[in-house]
Amino acid sequence: MKISFHGAARTVTGSFFVVETDTVRFGVDCGLFQGKSSVKERNYQPFRVEPSDLDFLVLTHAHIDHSGLIPKLFVQGFKGPIYCTFATADLAAILLPDSAYIQEMEVERKNRKLTRAGKPLLTPIYTIEDAHRCLELFQPYGYDEIFKPAPDVEIRLRDAGHILGSSIVEAWVTENGQKTKLVFSGDLGNVRQRIIKDPTRIESAEYIILESTYGDRLHQANTTRMDRLLEAIEYTRRKGGNLIIPAFAVERTQDLIYDLNLLNKQGKLPKDQKVYIDSPLAIAATEVFKRSAEFYDNETRQLLMEGADPFRLPNLEYSRTREDSVALNESAGGNIIISASGMCDAGRIKHHLKHNLWRPDSTILFVGYQAIGTLGRRLLDGEKLVRIHGEQVAVKADIVQIDGYSAHADQAVIMAWLKRFTVRPKMIFLVHGEEQAQFTLAQLIADELGVPVSIPDWLDEFDLSSPQEEQSVIQPCEFNPEVFSKKRELEAEEAYLQFRLDMNRHFQSSLEAGQYDELIRSLNAARKVILG
Ligand SMILES: [Zn+2]
Ligand SMILES: [Zn+2]
Repeated sequence: MKISFHGAARTVTGSFFVVETDTVRFGVDCGLFQGKSSVKERNYQPFRVEPSDLDFLVLTHAHIDHSGLIPKLFVQGFKGPIYCTFATADLAAILLPDSAYIQEMEVERKNRKLTRAGKPLLTPIYTIEDAHRCLELFQPYGYDEIFKPAPDVEIRLRDAGHILGSSIVEAWVTENGQKTKLVFSGDLGNVRQRIIKDPTRIESAEYIILESTYGDRLHQANTTRMDRLLEAIEYTRRKGGNLIIPAFAVERTQDLIYDLNLLNKQGKLPKDQKVYIDSPLAIAATEVFKRSAEFYDNETRQLLMEGADPFRLPNLEYSRTREDSVALNESAGGNIIISASGMCDAGRIKHHLKHNLWRPDSTILFVGYQAIGTLGRRLLDGEKLVRIHGEQVAVKADIVQIDGYSAHADQAVIMAWLKRFTVRPKMIFLVHGEEQAQFTLAQLIADELGVPVSIPDWLDEFDLSSPQEEQSVIQPCEFNPEVFSKKRELEAEEAYLQFRLDMNRHFQSSLEAGQYDELIRSLNAARKVILG
């Protein structure tokens, strides 16, 4: 069996790994390269694996750095199924056409210049139509189900706790009668993240393909990040300008609304504080969040039960049209504007930056990872003059960063997740990270776990069928009765909350439908079943 690394190899973007045996060939993720132009250039190069040779694809989550080249794969001949969770399929259905739109717009702008210069024109990597067509290949599964996409492969998706629908992929691949287990971490979530659950603990793997975005960093706690958010709001109000928050449309924007909601509930958010979500994508993504309550963590379910809507706020407005967005550009100050893209490379955020970067009374607040080469990273690195839409803009606004909003596991969370494996893996491949983070994490893993680590470079290939030595055991016995009973307690609590949530829904809809007799009968019957 061979594995090759077609992206996210010594970079954080372009995730794409290919596993190959004598009988099957499949991919995990197929993401867009973002950031530095030398990396982005790879989006235009031919795939190094023939798309029609792939039997199927597994998609860990909807983020564009994992899914953004799927339409290209489709256009170039891949017609196999794409396996992912239901929420991932829902989110991909809005993110992929949006990614195509951004590319079409970018090419159109560049082509206007090229036409004037009399040079050959560019074509987009794929079109909105391609993006819509490839959605037909999606075949969603629920978490934790084992399915068999090919006779020699079994797959199970586990909750990665990174964004809604994100998964860790467990893959059992049989070759010459020998079964080997690979685990692709996907993007591993942060613990105690808003709305969604914590990453699932996995117990065994022979090979782990592990993300390492924050392999050399530790995040702030949730409480600290809310204090810092409030600080930024109050500070910008005193100055009189706008607070501009570039945020990924999926998860980060909803996390921010959730925290603003909590601040509001605690009476800390000024009553007249206006908040705008200026991203059609974020608005569409929020709709997907609203109808995915089954993936929420207990805290969020509790909020719902109390009748709160974590995605609504008294002074929150969603600006849907271009006119709304332009009006916001002209606003004098006093607003919180949350807009995408998160790394400031595209979308409406660029307009808001153009109108606010030069204003000393405004603040730009970064809450997400900024890849090398992106406008966001350059602002964080302290550049004083940037170009936006061909215009020079002086940077006079305050540039602030809160890293507690990260949807990625930090070093401590990655290590804790690894330490749950009860059997020592043969090899850990570090992917999805910049070199500094990867080397630091590799050293730590070698020191603390004694597992061999490899940091593949772009297009590196490894043969995993070399002689199988015996696996050594890290902890002879992981079973701990205390941990076990705690787990059952949490499961019981979860079952109770789910029951209440379902009952609430049932009650509301029966009431609205006027089915009073039926409702009384079913409630009495349910009481009898439970209480005897
Ligand atoms: Zn991600
Ligand atoms: Zn990623």
